[in-house]
This record gives sequence, C-alpha cells and structure tokens, in this order.
Amino acid sequence: MSNDEKKVNLLGLSPKKMADFFVEMGEKPFRAQQLLKWIHQVGLEDFDDMSNVSKVMREKLKEVACVEYPEIIYHKVSKDGTQKWLMKIPGGSSIETVYIPEGGRGTLCVSSQIGCALDCSFCSTGKQGFNRDLSAAEIIGQVYVAAKSFDKPGEKRERKITNVVMMGMGEPLLNFDNVVDAMDLMMNDHSYGLSKRRVTLSTSGVVPNLYKLAEVSDVSLAVSLHAPNDALRDQLVPINKKYPIKELLAACDHYMGSLPDRRKLTVEYTMMDQVNDEVEHAEQLAKLLKNTPCKINLIPFNPFPNSGYSRPSNNRVYKFRDYLHNQGYIVTIRSTRGDDIDAACGQLVGQVEDRTRRSARYIELHEVSAAENSQAESK
Ligand code: SAH
Ligand code: SF4
Repeated sequence: MSNDEKKVNLLGLSPKKMADFFVEMGEKPFRAQQLLKWIHQVGLEDFDDMSNVSKVMREKLKEVACVEYPEIIYHKVSKDGTQKWLMKIPGGSSIETVYIPEGGRGTLCVSSQIGCALDCSFCSTGKQGFNRDLSAAEIIGQVYVAAKSFDKPGEKRERKITNVVMMGMGEPLLNFDNVVDAMDLMMNDHSYGLSKRRVTLSTSGVVPNLYKLAEVSDVSLAVSLHAPNDALRDQLVPINKKYPIKELLAACDHYMGSLPDRRKLTVEYTMMDQVNDEVEHAEQLAKLLKNTPCKINLIPFNPFPNSGYSRPSNNRVYKFRDYLHNQGYIVTIRSTRGDDIDAACGQLVGQVEDRTRRSARYIELHEVSAAENSQAESK
C-alpha cells in the first residue's frame, strides 16, 4: 500500500466519480468499469496486475492514483462463525467491522464514523465520543477488506457478503456524501452488485437528511426508535429533542414512499430491563406505528462496562414480542451473535481519539463509580 497523499485513492470513488476521473484524464468512461471490477470484484490494488489495462495506462495510473485500504490490526472469528475486524485509521484511531453468517446470508455490519457524536445513553460507541467522519474509501474499504479475507488463492471469489447494514460505529446520515458514495459502490454491478434491498442504512433520526437521502438513494431503511413516546426517547436518543418521533416517522414515511418498490421500514427497538420493556410500552408502540408499514426488530440490550443498563429476561422480551405480534406486527428478535468477541450491536468501540471530551467525562464517571464500588466492597 502506498501512502502518497497527492495520489487519488481509487478505492473510494463512486462509479460516477470513477468515470469523471477517467474523462478528466482524457480516457473513455468504460475504463472506470474495468477499474471498478479489478478493485472491488477481484480485490487487486496493484495496477500492474490488471491485465486488460494497457501498459501505458498503468504507468499513467501509477503516477496519479493508488488503491489504499485500511490496515487490519486484528481479525477474530467467534465460535458461532461471526467475524470481526479491527482496522487502523490514520490519526491513531481504529474502527470495527463485523460479519454475520446466517443460513445462506452473510451480513457485513459497516461503520460510518470514528465514534459518534449523538451520545445515545445505551450505546458504547456513543460513550467513546467522536473523532471524525470516515472517508468513502474507509467505508467501502471495510467491505473490500472483508471480501478479500474470504478469498482463497487461485480461486474465483465467492459471494460471501450478501447484505450490508450501516449499523457499525457512527451515524451514517451525519456522514452523508461519503456514505452515499460507498453505498453506490456496494450496489453497482461493476463493483459489489448487491441488491438495493440488501443494503440497509440505520439512523437514529437525522430528519432533514432522510429527506435528502430520498433524493439520491433507494437503499433499505432502518430507524432506531427504542421508545414509544418522546419523554422516554429524549432520554435514550438525545437527537429526539431536536427531531421528535412524529417528525421522524413522517420523514421515514416520505423515504419509504420515494422507493421504486414496496418495502417495509425496519423499526429497531433496543430493549433495556425496566426502562422501555414493559407491556405498556408495547401498547404505546403498537398505537404509534399503526399507520406505518414496518417490521419491528427487538434488540435485547448488549451490556458493556458501566452502561447502567441491563438486558431484560427472555420472558420479558417474549411478552413484549407476543403483544406486538398479536396486534398484527411482524416482529423479530435480533439474536446476539459474536458476543464472545464483543461483536454484538452496541459493543463496537474501536479506538476513538475523542475530540468531544465526552469520553473523558465518561472515564471520570467510570473511575468514580469504580472507586465507589471498591469502597462499598471494603466496607
Ligand atoms: N447510528 C445508527 C447506526 C449504528 S447503531 C443508529 O443509531 O441507528 C446500530 C443499532 O444498534 C442501533 O439500532 C442502535 O441503537 C443499536 N445499539 C446501540 N447500542 C446498543 C446496545 N448496547 N445493545 C443493543 N443495541 C444497541
Ligand atoms: Fe450514535 Fe447510533 Fe450509538 Fe446513537 S446508537 S450513539 S446514533 S451509533
């Protein structure tokens, strides 16, 4: 991997930007398709290995461009087949990407930012603070690295990644342009060729950007609701104070209505014991969503140190699910996968060089409560 800042990193160029790049070089746009295939379908980064690119063209490319992807710090495989990569990002941070195989599916959970500025009360990424947006190359680089690590030498690449969810670290709608470019690469036939139904963006509710997304994309949408009323959601998902539930659901309806086909919104609901998991919350939720075609995905809270929350018993989760089910909703419970390698939802932390001082506050609190605990123990 070269590290020449003056060179264009072709890895992150959307199909459109790749075509523009070649046109600017005085070349035909079909070159873009060739390069996209070599990079994303074959997994090459050395121009000399690209056999249908002329020698003259390769020399030209070497002068102005490179293919640079994130360096792997480690790659872990869980007992249940879930895999996790920790990747190094220039500037001292790192990000996490998770692969979840399930039947014939392989879902890659991709990060969009280093940390997250939105500070949801139950999310360990949020507790780490925020450093910066990932570039398009760093976002698609996670798909590139995962796909490459499944390759067997000398064999044609198998399509192990069938789905991508933008549910790793960060709020994808706050890194709009780079996320849209990377998702375009996920879906383009000359790169990863995933169906638009199999690429899902999850948002905690950046309402104006949902309207913007409807203009430029047709990926599937998941919304992190987590509470059936504003008072509770204000506490769990602070961005709710700016964009309350009614506005959020209106924006989701608009987005779903803009899609060329009929698809259902996914409503994510992380369940925390005695916080948002009472049957009365299920009743409110059923009323709230009665005009929203959706499927509800219950996510039992995944614990992390000093979160202050715990996971509800299975009984409570089933009761909640059954109520919604009886009201006619499609409800799934997200299974906890990969928790032996800390790869479950909300356990992704990477290494965030925080710029918000939030993690410092969190660490202070953490230390205070740890000190209190040890005092209490010694009494
Ligand atoms: N920022 C986006 C996408 C990343 S989070 C969003 O909030 O939607 C992906 C999902 O994991 C979200 O639904 C989020 O609320 C959930 N999540 C976060 N922390 C969690 C935890 N500790 N346990 C279970 N789910 C969690
Ligand atoms: Fe950010 Fe999503 Fe975590 Fe909230 S749940 S802090 S929006 S990553």
